[in-house]
Amino acid sequence: MLAYTYIGKGHFGLTEKPVPELQDPRDAIVRVTLGSICTSDLHIKHGSVPRAVPGITVGHEMVGIVEKTGAEVTNVRPGDRVTVNVETFCGECFFCRNGYVNNCEDPDGGWALGCRIDGGQAEYVRVPHAGQGLNRIPDGVSDEQALFTGDILATGYWAARISEIDPDDTVLIIGAGPTGICTLLCVMLKSPRRIIVCEKSRERAAFVRRHYPGVVVTGPENCAAVVSENSLHGGADVVIEVAGSDDTFRMAWQCARPNAIVTVVALYDHPQTLPLPDMYGKNLTFKTGGVDGCDCEEILRLIAEGKIDTTPLITHRFGLSQIDEAYRVFENRLDGVIKVAISNDTQTGVTTP
Ligand SMILES: [Zn+2]
Ligand SMILES: [Zn+2]
Repeated sequence: MLAYTYIGKGHFGLTEKPVPELQDPRDAIVRVTLGSICTSDLHIKHGSVPRAVPGITVGHEMVGIVEKTGAEVTNVRPGDRVTVNVETFCGECFFCRNGYVNNCEDPDGGWALGCRIDGGQAEYVRVPHAGQGLNRIPDGVSDEQALFTGDILATGYWAARISEIDPDDTVLIIGAGPTGICTLLCVMLKSPRRIIVCEKSRERAAFVRRHYPGVVVTGPENCAAVVSENSLHGGADVVIEVAGSDDTFRMAWQCARPNAIVTVVALYDHPQTLPLPDMYGKNLTFKTGGVDGCDCEEILRLIAEGKIDTTPLITHRFGLSQIDEAYRVFENRLDGVIKVAISNDTQTGVTTP
């Protein structure tokens, strides 16, 4: 089968590999029908994910059809359409039992697919702990509608959940990239009094204005003023930082009112400073992540009910055979791209059921 492979720093390529086999009774083999590219894939390509193993198939955002299941997999059957969770987790350890699946103690726990083990920018993928990592896609929900459930939408849902949003709140979301927009969609479900999105790219700010007219959109220069105009208590009640730069980290705590919750979803290239003397008396609560991606069933239900729709994020579509071009467009942010969808347009690797 064809698999997009991490060959070495700066280099991915489409290579021929054997179709994966079940290795454990808890495994499933999924035929990938639609996948996507995530910024984390680019981090691997640039060598900034030390855990990533050269030779692995990349990709951790995908949906597909179950091809084979191990003897201990009971939640899905061959032929089922499923979402694949970015995180692998056992469901049994202390962290899993408390919903902290990102810190699952299993050797494959956490982000393994497309990082430490073969992922899903391929025709087939082996999913360990399939009982936890696969969710059936409801009838009537398309692959495109379900595509982001296991990764960026799971992240947005988790960020909104842990931020303890109340109906009276002003919520500031910093960053309107794909994960920022997924966060926005999940914050909207909580119906806070005001939602403000801060985004420096004009193109992305325009996207938010066009699709979500009830949201206040600002650039970084005016963010503090816009937040204070739209807040009842001198700052945002909740800040969710999804952008991941030094400036946005500072903005996150500066725009928060005293006793606010500041949720940091972003992944930074550098260490950040918490200037505690400057924020003394502000009594902020910081929450930081790593998504605990264990709400996929609930997310799929919300998609089926029409309450979450991420399809406008899919701005470009490619076949697996054109994946180099898909990366070029996504990596260089060409042509207004937000997310790409990659369908399986190859005929090789077909197995008998
Ligand atoms: Zn990702
Ligand atoms: Zn676990």
